[in-house]
Formats: sequence, C-alpha cells, structure tokens
Amino acid sequence: MHIDSIKNGIVIDHITAGKGMQIYKLLGLDKLDCSIAIIKNVHSRKLGKKDIIKVDSDISVDIAALGYIDPGVTVNIIKDGALVDKKNISLPERIENVIFCKNPRCITSTEQELTHIFRLTDKESKTYRCIYCETKAETK
Ligand code: ZN
Repeated sequence: MHIDSIKNGIVIDHITAGKGMQIYKLLGLDKLDCSIAIIKNVHSRKLGKKDIIKVDSDISVDIAALGYIDPGVTVNIIKDGALVDKKNISLPERIENVIFCKNPRCITSTEQELTHIFRLTDKESKTYRCIYCETKAETK
C-alpha cells in the first residue's frame, strides 16, 4: 500500500466499499483541521473494492466504534513516514456512545448524561443489547 505523503498519522484500510463516509462522520474526522483523504472504490484483491481513509495527523480513533461499523478494517499507524503499527479491528465486546437506546423507558432516556453502553450478546448475529434495559440495538 502507498502511504504517499503521510508523515505522522493513520491510515484506515480495508473499509467495506461505501462505508468510508460513514466512518468519516462517526469518527468526527469532519471536525479536524489536518488533511484527510477518503479514497473510494479502491481495487482490492481481498475485498474486490474497498475504501481507504488517510488522516495526516496523529489522532486517536475510537477503535470499538470502528469495529462496530465495519469489523475487518485495518488501522495503520504512521510515524516519520514509516508504518509502525497495524491493528486488525474486529467486532467489539462493548461500545460506548456509538448507538443510542431507543427504549423510552430506559434509564438513558431520562438520565441524559448517562453513557449509552451496548454489549455484544451474540457474536453470530452481531446482536448488541443496552446494558441497562437489555433492549436490542437496531441493526445498521
Ligand atoms: Zn436501554
């Protein structure tokens, strides 16, 4: 993979084609000042097509959120122009403030400042449930 001009930053690779924008918004990349590239529909031997996001800044990303949206992505950490770390992201056990409980009787709907926490209850069907009321998260 070509890292191109990135000196210190991250490259999110192997994004399912079409999910690049969703990840861009979810991670709040639209609020950053640094240069960011979203490359869509890159040819991939493994996936056919994929999206890639390059961020030219040493930011920390919400790995759990990323894994929830698109398990299978890879996060490459670039320092001084070299690849120093590569993380394979899988489905997280727990996510915080990524999805929100829709149950009107859930404590999170009355206690506004409460963190919305969901945990993975079934890996096979990728089912997440609210830790407070056990309500099943709506599928993406
Ligand atoms: Zn709930």
